[in-house]
Amino acid sequence: MSHPHPELTEPGKLPKGGLRVTPLGGLGEVGRNMTVFEYDGRLLIVDCGVLFPEEQQPGVDLILPDFGPIRDRLDDIEALVLTHGHEDHIGATPYLLRERQNIPLVGSELTLALLGSKLREHRLRETVQHKVREGETITFGPFELEFVAVNHSIPDALAVAIRTGAGLVLHTGDFKMDQLPLDGRITDLRAFARLGEEGVDLFLTDSTNAEVPGFTTAEKKIAPAIEQVFRESDQRIIVACFASHVHRVQQVLDSAVAHGRKVAYVGRSMVRNMQIASDLGYLHVPENVIVDAKELADLPPEKVVMVSTGSQGEPMSALSRIANGTHNFVHIEPGDTVLLASSLIPGNENSIYRVINGLARLGANVVHKGNALVHVSGHASAGELLYCYNIVRPRNVMPVHGEVRHLLANGDLARQTGVESVVYAEDGVVVDLIDGKAEIAGKVECGYVFVDGTTVGDVTESELKDRRILSEEGFVSIVVVVDSVKGVVASGPEIHARGHVWPDNAFDPVKQPIIKAVNRAIAEGATDTYQLQQAIRRTFGRWVSSTHRRRPMIVPVVIEA
Ligand SMILES: [Zn+2]
Ligand SMILES: [Zn+2]
Repeated sequence: MSHPHPELTEPGKLPKGGLRVTPLGGLGEVGRNMTVFEYDGRLLIVDCGVLFPEEQQPGVDLILPDFGPIRDRLDDIEALVLTHGHEDHIGATPYLLRERQNIPLVGSELTLALLGSKLREHRLRETVQHKVREGETITFGPFELEFVAVNHSIPDALAVAIRTGAGLVLHTGDFKMDQLPLDGRITDLRAFARLGEEGVDLFLTDSTNAEVPGFTTAEKKIAPAIEQVFRESDQRIIVACFASHVHRVQQVLDSAVAHGRKVAYVGRSMVRNMQIASDLGYLHVPENVIVDAKELADLPPEKVVMVSTGSQGEPMSALSRIANGTHNFVHIEPGDTVLLASSLIPGNENSIYRVINGLARLGANVVHKGNALVHVSGHASAGELLYCYNIVRPRNVMPVHGEVRHLLANGDLARQTGVESVVYAEDGVVVDLIDGKAEIAGKVECGYVFVDGTTVGDVTESELKDRRILSEEGFVSIVVVVDSVKGVVASGPEIHARGHVWPDNAFDPVKQPIIKAVNRAIAEGATDTYQLQQAIRRTFGRWVSSTHRRRPMIVPVVIEA
Protein backbone atom coordinates (compact mmCIF):
# COMPACT_ATOMS: atom_id res chain seq x y z
CA MET A 1 0.00 0.00 0.00
CA SER A 2 1.30 3.45 -0.78
CA HIS A 3 2.22 5.55 2.16
CA PRO A 4 0.88 9.07 2.70
CA HIS A 5 3.92 10.10 4.72
CA PRO A 6 6.94 8.91 2.71
CA GLU A 7 9.16 11.44 4.43
CA LEU A 8 8.61 9.97 7.89
CA THR A 9 11.40 8.19 9.69
CA GLU A 10 11.61 6.12 12.87
CA PRO A 11 10.09 8.09 15.75
CA GLY A 12 12.36 9.40 18.49
CA LYS A 13 12.10 8.31 22.10
CA LEU A 14 8.68 8.91 23.62
CA PRO A 15 9.00 11.78 26.11
CA LYS A 16 8.07 10.98 29.70
CA GLY A 17 4.38 11.55 30.33
CA GLY A 18 3.52 11.09 26.65
CA LEU A 19 1.23 8.48 25.11
CA ARG A 20 2.23 6.83 21.84
CA VAL A 21 -0.36 5.36 19.48
CA THR A 22 0.78 3.01 16.69
CA PRO A 23 -1.80 1.42 14.39
CA LEU A 24 -0.44 -1.87 13.03
CA GLY A 25 -3.52 -2.57 10.91
CA GLY A 26 -6.96 -1.26 9.98
CA LEU A 27 -5.96 2.25 8.92
CA GLY A 28 -5.94 2.33 5.13
CA GLU A 29 -8.04 -0.84 4.79
CA VAL A 30 -11.18 -2.40 6.25
CA GLY A 31 -9.76 -5.32 8.18
CA ARG A 32 -6.95 -6.58 10.49
CA ASN A 33 -7.56 -3.88 13.09
CA MET A 34 -4.84 -3.52 15.70
CA THR A 35 -3.67 -0.46 17.61
CA VAL A 36 -0.84 -0.31 20.14
CA PHE A 37 -0.81 2.27 22.95
CA GLU A 38 2.42 2.92 24.85
CA TYR A 39 2.78 4.76 28.12
CA ASP A 40 5.70 4.75 30.54
CA GLY A 41 7.38 1.85 28.76
CA ARG A 42 4.27 -0.37 28.87
CA LEU A 43 1.99 -1.42 26.00
CA LEU A 44 -1.76 -1.87 25.65
CA ILE A 45 -3.22 -3.34 22.47
CA VAL A 46 -6.73 -2.75 21.20
CA ASP A 47 -7.98 -5.48 18.81
CA CYS A 48 -6.04 -8.00 16.79
CA GLY A 49 -7.94 -8.90 13.63
CA VAL A 50 -7.48 -10.40 10.20
CA LEU A 51 -7.99 -9.12 6.68
CA PHE A 52 -9.34 -11.43 4.00
CA PRO A 53 -7.27 -11.65 0.80
CA GLU A 54 -8.35 -10.32 -2.56
CA GLU A 55 -8.05 -11.85 -5.99
CA GLN A 56 -4.57 -10.36 -6.53
CA GLN A 57 -3.29 -12.34 -3.54
CA PRO A 58 -3.74 -15.89 -4.88
CA GLY A 59 -3.31 -18.77 -2.48
CA VAL A 60 -3.36 -16.56 0.62
CA ASP A 61 -5.82 -17.62 3.33
CA LEU A 62 -5.57 -14.65 5.69
CA ILE A 63 -3.63 -11.44 6.15
CA LEU A 64 -2.42 -10.53 9.64
CA PRO A 65 -1.22 -7.25 11.12
CA ASP A 66 2.56 -7.01 11.23
CA PHE A 67 3.71 -7.82 14.78
CA GLY A 68 7.27 -6.79 13.83
CA PRO A 69 7.26 -3.45 15.69
CA ILE A 70 6.30 -5.13 19.00
CA ARG A 71 8.01 -8.50 18.56
CA ASP A 72 10.92 -7.72 20.88
CA ARG A 73 8.60 -6.02 23.39
CA LEU A 74 6.09 -8.80 23.98
CA ASP A 75 6.82 -8.78 27.71
CA ASP A 76 5.83 -5.10 27.90
CA ILE A 77 2.25 -5.87 26.83
CA GLU A 78 -0.15 -5.34 29.72
CA ALA A 79 -3.29 -6.55 27.95
CA LEU A 80 -5.08 -7.07 24.65
CA VAL A 81 -8.54 -5.47 24.62
CA LEU A 82 -11.00 -6.96 22.12
CA THR A 83 -13.83 -4.54 21.35
CA HIS A 84 -16.13 -7.15 19.76
CA GLY A 85 -16.19 -10.58 18.20
CA HIS A 86 -15.82 -9.81 14.48
CA GLU A 87 -12.97 -11.50 12.62
CA ASP A 88 -11.38 -8.18 11.67
CA HIS A 89 -10.97 -7.53 15.42
CA ILE A 90 -10.23 -10.94 17.00
CA GLY A 91 -9.07 -13.17 14.11
CA ALA A 92 -5.30 -12.64 14.50
CA THR A 93 -5.30 -13.11 18.29
CA PRO A 94 -4.21 -16.78 18.14
CA TYR A 95 -1.20 -15.75 16.04
CA LEU A 96 -0.17 -13.11 18.59
CA LEU A 97 -0.65 -15.59 21.45
CA ARG A 98 1.63 -18.05 19.67
CA GLU A 99 4.37 -15.51 20.40
CA ARG A 100 3.34 -15.01 24.05
CA GLN A 101 0.47 -17.14 25.29
CA ASN A 102 -0.24 -15.37 28.59
CA ILE A 103 -1.07 -11.92 27.25
CA PRO A 104 -4.20 -10.99 29.27
CA LEU A 105 -7.26 -10.93 26.99
CA VAL A 106 -9.96 -8.44 27.88
CA GLY A 107 -13.43 -8.44 26.34
CA SER A 108 -17.15 -8.86 26.83
CA GLU A 109 -18.77 -12.23 27.48
CA LEU A 110 -19.80 -12.92 23.88
CA THR A 111 -16.51 -11.61 22.45
CA LEU A 112 -14.44 -13.92 24.65
CA ALA A 113 -16.76 -16.86 23.95
CA LEU A 114 -16.38 -16.42 20.17
CA LEU A 115 -12.63 -16.02 20.61
CA GLY A 116 -12.55 -19.12 22.82
CA SER A 117 -13.59 -21.49 20.05
CA LYS A 118 -10.87 -19.99 17.85
CA LEU A 119 -8.23 -20.44 20.56
CA ARG A 120 -9.24 -24.09 20.97
CA GLU A 121 -8.78 -24.64 17.23
CA HIS A 122 -5.24 -23.31 17.61
CA ARG A 123 -4.70 -25.48 20.74
CA LEU A 124 -4.07 -22.43 22.90
CA ARG A 125 -5.28 -23.58 26.32
CA GLU A 126 -3.23 -21.58 28.81
CA THR A 127 -4.71 -18.15 28.13
CA VAL A 128 -5.51 -15.43 30.65
CA GLN A 129 -8.96 -13.88 30.23
CA HIS A 130 -10.74 -10.96 31.87
CA LYS A 131 -14.46 -10.74 31.16
CA VAL A 132 -15.74 -7.17 31.37
CA ARG A 133 -19.09 -5.41 30.99
CA GLU A 134 -20.10 -1.89 30.05
CA GLY A 135 -19.64 0.49 32.98
CA GLU A 136 -16.77 -1.52 34.42
CA THR A 137 -13.31 -0.17 35.10
CA ILE A 138 -10.18 -2.33 35.20
CA THR A 139 -6.52 -1.34 35.46
CA PHE A 140 -3.53 -2.91 33.73
CA GLY A 141 -0.22 -1.31 34.68
CA PRO A 142 -0.43 2.39 33.87
CA PHE A 143 -3.64 1.94 31.82
CA GLU A 144 -7.02 2.42 33.48
CA LEU A 145 -9.72 1.08 31.19
CA GLU A 146 -13.43 1.92 31.27
CA PHE A 147 -15.86 0.13 28.99
CA VAL A 148 -18.84 1.71 27.25
CA ALA A 149 -21.69 -0.15 25.53
CA VAL A 150 -21.90 0.40 21.79
CA ASN A 151 -24.39 -0.92 19.26
CA HIS A 152 -23.00 -2.78 16.25
CA SER A 153 -23.86 -5.69 13.94
CA ILE A 154 -22.84 -8.17 16.64
CA PRO A 155 -24.10 -8.11 20.24
CA ASP A 156 -22.01 -7.13 23.26
CA ALA A 157 -19.66 -4.68 21.50
CA LEU A 158 -17.70 -2.22 23.63
CA ALA A 159 -15.95 1.10 23.24
CA VAL A 160 -12.99 1.58 25.55
CA ALA A 161 -11.83 4.67 27.41
CA ILE A 162 -8.14 4.57 28.31
CA ARG A 163 -6.86 6.79 31.10
CA THR A 164 -3.12 7.35 31.55
CA GLY A 165 -1.00 10.18 32.86
CA ALA A 166 -1.09 11.57 29.30
CA GLY A 167 -4.85 12.09 29.36
CA LEU A 168 -8.07 10.38 28.34
CA VAL A 169 -8.42 8.42 25.13
CA LEU A 170 -11.77 7.14 23.84
CA HIS A 171 -11.76 4.39 21.19
CA THR A 172 -15.22 3.71 19.77
CA GLY A 173 -14.43 0.30 18.29
CA ASP A 174 -16.99 -0.47 15.58
CA PHE A 175 -20.31 1.16 16.33
CA LYS A 176 -23.52 2.70 15.08
CA MET A 177 -26.39 4.41 16.82
CA ASP A 178 -29.44 2.25 16.15
CA GLN A 179 -31.96 3.75 18.60
CA LEU A 180 -34.24 0.70 18.63
CA PRO A 181 -31.94 -2.32 18.49
CA LEU A 182 -33.34 -5.82 19.00
CA ASP A 183 -31.61 -6.22 22.36
CA GLY A 184 -32.35 -2.67 23.55
CA ARG A 185 -28.64 -2.13 24.16
CA ILE A 186 -27.92 1.23 22.55
CA THR A 187 -24.63 3.07 22.15
CA ASP A 188 -24.24 4.75 25.54
CA LEU A 189 -24.15 8.39 24.54
CA ARG A 190 -24.62 9.40 28.18
CA ALA A 191 -21.26 7.78 28.94
CA PHE A 192 -19.79 9.47 25.84
CA ALA A 193 -21.10 12.80 27.19
CA ARG A 194 -19.74 12.16 30.69
CA LEU A 195 -16.30 11.29 29.28
CA GLY A 196 -16.56 14.40 27.10
CA GLU A 197 -17.20 16.50 30.21
CA GLU A 198 -14.13 14.97 31.83
CA GLY A 199 -12.21 15.95 28.67
CA VAL A 200 -11.38 13.48 25.88
CA ASP A 201 -7.85 14.24 24.70
CA LEU A 202 -7.86 11.78 21.82
CA PHE A 203 -10.93 10.29 20.15
CA LEU A 204 -10.44 7.33 17.81
CA THR A 205 -13.58 6.82 15.73
CA ASP A 206 -14.92 4.24 13.27
CA SER A 207 -14.63 5.68 9.73
CA THR A 208 -16.25 2.87 7.70
CA ASN A 209 -19.42 4.78 6.79
CA ALA A 210 -18.15 8.35 7.13
CA GLU A 211 -18.87 8.93 3.43
CA VAL A 212 -22.50 7.80 3.78
CA PRO A 213 -24.79 10.74 4.48
CA GLY A 214 -27.48 10.64 7.15
CA PHE A 215 -28.13 7.80 9.55
CA THR A 216 -27.72 4.04 9.28
CA THR A 217 -31.11 2.35 8.96
CA ALA A 218 -32.27 0.41 12.02
CA GLU A 219 -31.86 -3.38 12.01
CA LYS A 220 -35.60 -3.79 12.64
CA LYS A 221 -36.39 -2.11 9.30
CA ILE A 222 -35.47 -5.23 7.40
CA ALA A 223 -38.22 -7.22 9.14
CA PRO A 224 -40.88 -6.47 6.48
CA ALA A 225 -38.66 -7.79 3.67
CA ILE A 226 -37.93 -10.99 5.60
CA GLU A 227 -41.61 -11.32 6.43
CA GLN A 228 -42.53 -10.96 2.76
CA VAL A 229 -40.19 -13.79 1.80
CA PHE A 230 -41.83 -16.06 4.37
CA ARG A 231 -45.33 -15.02 3.33
CA GLU A 232 -44.77 -15.60 -0.37
CA SER A 233 -42.66 -18.73 -0.31
CA ASP A 234 -44.33 -22.12 -0.44
CA GLN A 235 -41.07 -24.07 -0.64
CA ARG A 236 -37.75 -24.10 1.18
CA ILE A 237 -36.11 -20.86 2.29
CA ILE A 238 -32.35 -20.52 2.58
CA VAL A 239 -31.03 -17.41 4.32
CA ALA A 240 -27.34 -16.52 4.10
CA CYS A 241 -25.79 -13.97 6.42
CA PHE A 242 -22.66 -13.42 8.49
CA ALA A 243 -22.16 -16.20 11.01
CA SER A 244 -21.75 -13.62 13.77
CA HIS A 245 -24.88 -11.58 13.01
CA VAL A 246 -26.93 -12.81 15.94
CA HIS A 247 -29.70 -10.25 15.55
CA ARG A 248 -30.15 -10.96 11.86
CA VAL A 249 -30.51 -14.66 12.65
CA GLN A 250 -32.92 -13.75 15.47
CA GLN A 251 -35.20 -11.98 12.99
CA VAL A 252 -35.15 -15.04 10.71
CA LEU A 253 -35.91 -17.32 13.67
CA ASP A 254 -38.84 -15.12 14.71
CA SER A 255 -40.32 -15.21 11.21
CA ALA A 256 -39.77 -18.97 11.00
CA VAL A 257 -41.66 -19.49 14.25
CA ALA A 258 -44.48 -17.24 13.07
CA HIS A 259 -44.82 -19.28 9.88
CA GLY A 260 -44.42 -22.71 11.47
CA ARG A 261 -41.09 -23.55 9.90
CA LYS A 262 -38.15 -25.47 11.40
CA VAL A 263 -34.67 -23.95 11.19
CA ALA A 264 -31.35 -25.66 10.52
CA TYR A 265 -27.93 -24.02 10.59
CA VAL A 266 -25.69 -24.87 7.66
CA GLY A 267 -21.94 -24.18 7.69
CA ARG A 268 -19.48 -24.87 10.50
CA SER A 269 -19.09 -21.31 11.82
CA MET A 270 -22.86 -20.69 11.74
CA VAL A 271 -23.55 -23.86 13.77
CA ARG A 272 -20.82 -23.02 16.26
CA ASN A 273 -21.54 -19.30 16.73
CA MET A 274 -25.31 -19.69 17.07
CA GLN A 275 -24.79 -22.42 19.66
CA ILE A 276 -22.57 -20.03 21.65
CA ALA A 277 -25.00 -17.12 21.25
CA SER A 278 -28.00 -19.14 22.37
CA ASP A 279 -26.13 -20.80 25.27
CA LEU A 280 -25.22 -17.34 26.56
CA GLY A 281 -28.69 -15.90 25.99
CA TYR A 282 -27.87 -13.48 23.15
CA LEU A 283 -30.03 -15.48 20.74
CA HIS A 284 -33.51 -16.46 21.87
CA VAL A 285 -34.50 -19.79 20.42
CA PRO A 286 -37.99 -21.17 21.14
CA GLU A 287 -38.17 -24.90 21.89
CA ASN A 288 -38.42 -27.39 19.05
CA VAL A 289 -37.52 -24.96 16.29
CA ILE A 290 -33.92 -25.93 15.55
CA VAL A 291 -33.31 -29.19 13.75
CA ASP A 292 -30.14 -30.82 12.48
CA ALA A 293 -29.51 -29.99 8.83
CA LYS A 294 -29.40 -33.66 7.94
CA GLU A 295 -32.99 -34.11 9.18
CA LEU A 296 -34.31 -31.55 6.70
CA ALA A 297 -34.87 -34.15 3.99
CA ASP A 298 -37.61 -35.70 6.13
CA LEU A 299 -39.55 -32.43 6.37
CA PRO A 300 -41.88 -30.97 3.75
CA PRO A 301 -40.15 -28.11 1.89
CA GLU A 302 -42.66 -25.51 3.07
CA LYS A 303 -41.71 -26.30 6.69
CA VAL A 304 -37.98 -25.64 6.27
CA VAL A 305 -35.56 -22.71 6.69
CA MET A 306 -31.81 -23.03 6.41
CA VAL A 307 -29.54 -20.34 7.83
CA SER A 308 -26.25 -20.58 6.05
CA THR A 309 -22.76 -19.11 5.83
CA GLY A 310 -21.29 -17.92 2.57
CA SER A 311 -23.04 -14.58 2.08
CA GLN A 312 -19.82 -13.17 0.59
CA GLY A 313 -19.53 -15.90 -2.03
CA GLU A 314 -16.59 -17.54 -0.23
CA PRO A 315 -15.69 -20.42 -2.56
CA MET A 316 -15.58 -23.17 0.11
CA SER A 317 -18.67 -22.01 2.02
CA ALA A 318 -21.95 -23.87 2.28
CA LEU A 319 -23.82 -21.45 0.01
CA SER A 320 -21.22 -21.63 -2.76
CA ARG A 321 -21.40 -25.41 -2.70
CA ILE A 322 -25.21 -25.27 -2.76
CA ALA A 323 -25.04 -22.86 -5.72
CA ASN A 324 -22.73 -25.07 -7.77
CA GLY A 325 -24.57 -28.24 -6.86
CA THR A 326 -21.77 -29.85 -4.85
CA HIS A 327 -23.20 -29.62 -1.32
CA ASN A 328 -23.46 -32.95 0.50
CA PHE A 329 -27.15 -32.86 1.31
CA VAL A 330 -28.63 -29.48 0.32
CA HIS A 331 -29.83 -29.40 -3.28
CA ILE A 332 -31.81 -26.52 -4.74
CA GLU A 333 -35.22 -27.33 -6.21
CA PRO A 334 -36.88 -24.91 -8.63
CA GLY A 335 -39.06 -22.54 -6.59
CA ASP A 336 -36.84 -22.49 -3.48
CA THR A 337 -36.07 -19.01 -2.16
CA VAL A 338 -32.57 -17.84 -1.24
CA LEU A 339 -32.28 -14.68 0.85
CA LEU A 340 -28.86 -13.03 1.02
CA ALA A 341 -29.28 -10.89 4.13
CA SER A 342 -25.85 -9.38 3.87
CA SER A 343 -23.67 -6.59 2.57
CA LEU A 344 -21.73 -6.65 -0.65
CA ILE A 345 -18.20 -6.11 0.61
CA PRO A 346 -16.12 -4.37 -2.08
CA GLY A 347 -13.86 -6.93 -3.74
CA ASN A 348 -16.37 -9.76 -3.23
CA GLU A 349 -18.82 -8.65 -5.93
CA ASN A 350 -17.72 -11.18 -8.53
CA SER A 351 -17.94 -14.11 -6.14
CA ILE A 352 -21.34 -13.03 -4.81
CA TYR A 353 -22.84 -12.60 -8.26
CA ARG A 354 -21.39 -15.96 -9.28
CA VAL A 355 -23.31 -17.53 -6.38
CA ILE A 356 -26.51 -15.61 -7.20
CA ASN A 357 -26.30 -16.71 -10.83
CA GLY A 358 -25.62 -20.30 -9.80
CA LEU A 359 -28.68 -20.33 -7.55
CA ALA A 360 -30.86 -18.66 -10.18
CA ARG A 361 -29.75 -21.20 -12.78
CA LEU A 362 -30.94 -23.99 -10.48
CA GLY A 363 -34.36 -22.31 -10.37
CA ALA A 364 -34.12 -20.47 -7.04
CA ASN A 365 -35.77 -17.14 -6.41
CA VAL A 366 -32.91 -14.98 -5.07
CA VAL A 367 -33.67 -12.01 -2.82
CA HIS A 368 -30.69 -9.78 -2.04
CA LYS A 369 -29.60 -6.27 -1.14
CA GLY A 370 -29.99 -5.23 -4.77
CA ASN A 371 -33.72 -6.06 -4.93
CA ALA A 372 -35.02 -5.74 -1.34
CA LEU A 373 -34.19 -4.07 2.00
CA VAL A 374 -32.60 -7.16 3.49
CA HIS A 375 -29.42 -5.63 4.90
CA VAL A 376 -28.38 -2.63 6.96
CA SER A 377 -24.82 -1.65 7.84
CA GLY A 378 -23.20 -2.12 11.24
CA HIS A 379 -21.38 1.20 11.14
CA ALA A 380 -22.29 4.79 11.95
CA SER A 381 -23.03 7.06 9.00
CA ALA A 382 -21.97 10.70 8.79
CA GLY A 383 -24.96 11.98 10.79
CA GLU A 384 -24.18 9.71 13.72
CA LEU A 385 -20.50 10.65 13.69
CA LEU A 386 -21.42 14.34 13.79
CA TYR A 387 -23.56 13.69 16.87
CA CYS A 388 -20.65 11.93 18.52
CA TYR A 389 -18.22 14.76 17.87
CA ASN A 390 -20.68 17.30 19.23
CA ILE A 391 -21.34 15.19 22.32
CA VAL A 392 -17.73 14.28 23.09
CA ARG A 393 -16.07 17.56 22.01
CA PRO A 394 -12.64 15.94 21.80
CA ARG A 395 -9.35 17.87 21.69
CA ASN A 396 -7.86 15.60 19.03
CA VAL A 397 -9.45 13.14 16.62
CA MET A 398 -7.78 10.18 14.93
CA PRO A 399 -10.02 8.45 12.35
CA VAL A 400 -9.60 4.66 12.39
CA HIS A 401 -11.13 1.60 10.69
CA GLY A 402 -11.28 2.40 7.01
CA GLU A 403 -9.66 2.95 3.67
CA VAL A 404 -7.94 6.28 3.13
CA ARG A 405 -11.09 7.86 1.66
CA HIS A 406 -13.08 6.83 4.75
CA LEU A 407 -10.47 8.23 7.15
CA LEU A 408 -10.39 11.54 5.28
CA ALA A 409 -14.21 11.81 5.20
CA ASN A 410 -14.37 11.08 8.92
CA GLY A 411 -11.72 13.67 9.75
CA ASP A 412 -13.63 16.18 7.68
CA LEU A 413 -16.76 15.58 9.77
CA ALA A 414 -14.77 16.17 12.95
CA ARG A 415 -13.46 19.44 11.55
CA GLN A 416 -16.98 20.58 10.62
CA THR A 417 -17.97 20.31 14.29
CA GLY A 418 -15.03 22.50 15.29
CA VAL A 419 -12.37 19.93 16.15
CA GLU A 420 -9.11 21.67 15.26
CA SER A 421 -6.70 18.80 15.57
CA VAL A 422 -7.31 15.80 13.30
CA VAL A 423 -4.44 13.36 12.79
CA TYR A 424 -4.56 11.19 9.70
CA ALA A 425 -2.44 8.13 10.20
CA GLU A 426 -2.14 4.91 8.25
CA ASP A 427 -0.74 1.58 9.37
CA GLY A 428 2.68 2.09 10.94
CA VAL A 429 2.34 5.86 11.40
CA VAL A 430 3.16 6.76 14.99
CA VAL A 431 1.07 9.39 16.78
CA ASP A 432 2.20 10.90 20.09
CA LEU A 433 -0.17 12.59 22.54
CA ILE A 434 1.92 15.05 24.52
CA ASP A 435 0.54 17.88 26.68
CA GLY A 436 -2.91 17.37 25.21
CA LYS A 437 -1.78 17.66 21.60
CA ALA A 438 -1.69 14.70 19.21
CA GLU A 439 0.92 14.81 16.47
CA ILE A 440 2.55 12.42 14.03
CA ALA A 441 5.95 11.44 15.41
CA GLY A 442 7.28 9.11 12.72
CA LYS A 443 6.59 5.71 11.28
CA VAL A 444 7.62 2.12 11.83
CA GLU A 445 8.04 -0.62 9.22
CA CYS A 446 4.71 -2.37 9.01
CA GLY A 447 3.70 -4.64 6.14
CA TYR A 448 1.31 -7.44 5.32
CA VAL A 449 1.83 -10.83 6.89
CA PHE A 450 0.32 -13.61 4.81
CA VAL A 451 -1.01 -16.86 6.20
CA ASP A 452 -0.84 -19.58 3.55
CA GLY A 453 -2.00 -22.98 4.74
CA THR A 454 -0.12 -23.51 7.96
CA THR A 455 2.73 -21.11 7.32
CA VAL A 456 2.74 -17.58 8.66
CA GLY A 457 4.87 -14.88 7.11
CA ASP A 458 6.79 -17.21 4.78
CA VAL A 459 4.98 -16.02 1.69
CA THR A 460 6.19 -12.59 0.63
CA GLU A 461 4.93 -9.96 -1.79
CA SER A 462 7.51 -11.17 -4.36
CA GLU A 463 6.07 -14.69 -4.26
CA LEU A 464 2.59 -13.27 -4.74
CA LYS A 465 3.93 -11.38 -7.74
CA ASP A 466 5.19 -14.71 -9.10
CA ARG A 467 1.77 -16.27 -8.47
CA ARG A 468 0.06 -13.41 -10.29
CA ILE A 469 2.41 -13.78 -13.27
CA LEU A 470 1.91 -17.55 -13.29
CA SER A 471 -1.86 -17.22 -13.20
CA GLU A 472 -2.05 -14.53 -15.85
CA GLU A 473 0.90 -15.35 -18.13
CA GLY A 474 1.93 -18.91 -17.41
CA PHE A 475 5.55 -19.96 -17.55
CA VAL A 476 8.14 -20.88 -20.15
CA SER A 477 11.09 -23.19 -19.52
CA ILE A 478 14.13 -22.90 -21.77
CA VAL A 479 16.73 -25.66 -21.60
CA VAL A 480 20.15 -25.16 -23.21
CA VAL A 481 23.04 -27.66 -23.17
CA VAL A 482 26.48 -26.06 -23.28
CA ASP A 483 29.63 -27.86 -24.37
CA SER A 484 31.95 -26.73 -21.60
CA VAL A 485 35.10 -27.73 -23.47
CA LYS A 486 34.34 -25.89 -26.72
CA GLY A 487 32.42 -23.12 -24.95
CA VAL A 488 29.41 -23.13 -27.26
CA VAL A 489 25.81 -24.26 -27.20
CA ALA A 490 25.77 -27.98 -27.95
CA SER A 491 22.03 -28.48 -28.17
CA GLY A 492 18.76 -26.67 -27.55
CA PRO A 493 17.16 -24.47 -26.73
CA GLU A 494 14.23 -26.70 -25.84
CA ILE A 495 11.35 -24.36 -25.08
CA HIS A 496 8.19 -25.51 -23.27
CA ALA A 497 5.28 -23.36 -22.13
CA ARG A 498 2.48 -23.91 -19.64
CA GLY A 499 -0.54 -21.88 -18.62
CA HIS A 500 -0.90 -19.98 -21.87
CA VAL A 501 -1.66 -21.34 -25.32
CA TRP A 502 1.06 -20.60 -27.89
CA PRO A 503 0.75 -21.40 -31.61
CA ASP A 504 2.79 -24.34 -32.92
CA ASN A 505 6.41 -23.38 -33.59
CA ALA A 506 5.79 -20.00 -31.97
CA PHE A 507 9.22 -20.09 -30.37
CA ASP A 508 11.20 -20.97 -33.51
CA PRO A 509 12.19 -17.36 -34.30
CA VAL A 510 13.80 -16.89 -30.86
CA LYS A 511 15.91 -20.04 -30.85
CA GLN A 512 18.81 -18.66 -32.90
CA PRO A 513 18.97 -15.39 -30.90
CA ILE A 514 19.16 -17.43 -27.67
CA ILE A 515 22.01 -19.57 -29.02
CA LYS A 516 23.82 -16.43 -30.13
CA ALA A 517 23.31 -14.72 -26.78
CA VAL A 518 24.66 -17.69 -24.83
CA ASN A 519 27.67 -18.10 -27.14
CA ARG A 520 28.41 -14.39 -26.90
CA ALA A 521 28.16 -14.44 -23.08
CA ILE A 522 30.67 -17.32 -22.94
CA ALA A 523 33.00 -15.56 -25.39
CA GLU A 524 32.83 -12.43 -23.21
CA GLY A 525 33.94 -14.42 -20.18
CA ALA A 526 30.75 -15.57 -18.44
CA THR A 527 31.92 -18.26 -16.05
CA ASP A 528 28.89 -19.55 -14.19
CA THR A 529 25.53 -20.90 -15.29
CA TYR A 530 23.70 -18.05 -13.56
CA GLN A 531 25.17 -15.52 -16.02
CA LEU A 532 24.13 -17.75 -18.92
CA GLN A 533 20.64 -18.11 -17.48
CA GLN A 534 20.40 -14.32 -17.28
CA ALA A 535 21.42 -14.04 -20.96
CA ILE A 536 18.66 -16.50 -21.89
CA ARG A 537 16.07 -14.75 -19.72
CA ARG A 538 16.92 -11.33 -21.16
CA THR A 539 16.86 -12.48 -24.77
CA PHE A 540 13.62 -14.42 -24.49
CA GLY A 541 11.95 -11.79 -22.27
CA ARG A 542 12.67 -8.97 -24.72
CA TRP A 543 11.49 -11.04 -27.69
CA VAL A 544 8.28 -12.31 -26.09
CA SER A 545 7.30 -8.89 -24.83
CA SER A 546 7.96 -7.06 -28.11
CA THR A 547 6.49 -9.67 -30.48
CA HIS A 548 3.70 -11.15 -28.35
CA ARG A 549 3.06 -8.47 -25.70
CA ARG A 550 3.32 -11.11 -23.00
CA ARG A 551 5.40 -11.45 -19.85
CA PRO A 552 5.44 -15.10 -18.78
CA MET A 553 7.61 -16.35 -15.97
CA ILE A 554 10.84 -17.49 -17.64
CA VAL A 555 12.72 -20.45 -16.17
CA PRO A 556 16.08 -20.85 -17.95
CA VAL A 557 18.01 -24.07 -17.34
CA VAL A 558 21.66 -24.42 -18.42
CA ILE A 559 23.21 -27.90 -18.48
CA GLU A 560 26.95 -28.20 -18.88
CA ALA A 561 28.05 -31.25 -20.83
ZN1 LIG B 1 -17.25 -5.10 13.58
ZN1 LIG C 1 -14.50 -3.98 12.08
